[in-house]
Amino acid sequence: MFKEIDDLSDSLVLIVEDSALTQKVLSACLEGLCKVDAVDCAEDAIDYCLKSAPDLILMDWILGGMTGLEACKKIQAMDELNEIPIIFVTSNTNENQQELCWDAGAVDFLGKPIVARTLVNRVRTHLKYKRQTDILKQYSFFDGLTEVFNRRYFDMECKRLFRQNLRQQQCLSVIMLDIDYFKLFNDKYGHLQGDDALKDVAKIAMKMVNRPLDSVFRYGGEEFAVLLPNTSEEGALKIAQSIVNAVKGLEIPHCKSQFDVVTVSAGVAVGHYGAYDNIEDLIQKADEGLYLAKTNGRDQAYLIAKEPK
Ligand code: GH3
Ligand code: MG
Ligand code: MG
Ligand code: MG
Repeated sequence: MFKEIDDLSDSLVLIVEDSALTQKVLSACLEGLCKVDAVDCAEDAIDYCLKSAPDLILMDWILGGMTGLEACKKIQAMDELNEIPIIFVTSNTNENQQELCWDAGAVDFLGKPIVARTLVNRVRTHLKYKRQTDILKQYSFFDGLTEVFNRRYFDMECKRLFRQNLRQQQCLSVIMLDIDYFKLFNDKYGHLQGDDALKDVAKIAMKMVNRPLDSVFRYGGEEFAVLLPNTSEEGALKIAQSIVNAVKGLEIPHCKSQFDVVTVSAGVAVGHYGAYDNIEDLIQKADEGLYLAKTNGRDQAYLIAKEPK
């Protein structure tokens, strides 16, 4: 783990600088430490960040269009970008100007002309710090056994997606999955084999959801949740059904089940714009679907149809 933090060769620094010469100097200083890319205006910087998520930005203040200060404030205000640390590299260095940089949300400040060693040391420190934070976040948001997102992240993410989907007037689908007769499986084959089955089910569920914004979570013991932003009935049911089929297709022997192999049941609910007041009600609906999939005979997906409010 510590070796990973020290090796910054995969970390990406974005230089936002309108002078081609300064871009070159900064890039040359950082060569060998990390990956570097450069843009020459703030507008391009924001587009770049939305696509490539750099680990650190070196921001000039005076640029062609939007100033570096404005760009910094804008980035700080964006949910998807505000964790990228920004260091100002500028000749605006008087006290008042430094105050403005801190107020805009910068993590550090470097005066021009650039002192190469100071630049490299500051960048290294901030990249290490960013990497530590990323690793910690990963540990705290992933389920150690199945390597999908954990319940803590689900609780945060479903609220965020619900708000986002309301804002964008799109729908959000929820699938709740539960392994069938899993207590009997554990009793028969033991907990270690039970754990292996959980891992296999998580892996195949991950494989079946393939849009970049779709995500799989371990909701509880042998229960998983899938969040599908901007997906309506047809798509959500198709994915739920494909997970049900794929789990059965794994052919994990389960002699205590009438299917002879491990299977899952799935409940699906679709939150159209304005149809639900809160995410808890939507999850509750998916749970009702799961209950009906179970009582209908298991090894199936059940969609709770949209009810007009
Ligand atoms: P149903 O078909 O109605 O879902 O029955 P079930 O037996 O799957 O459901 P129940 O809720 O009665 O039991 C869930 C079982 O899941 C209990 C426990 O043995 C097992 N389980 C939960 N978490 C873990 C885990 O982390 N590892 C293992 N091996 N088993 C687990
Ligand atoms: Mg400039
Ligand atoms: Mg259960
Ligand atoms: Mg179960």
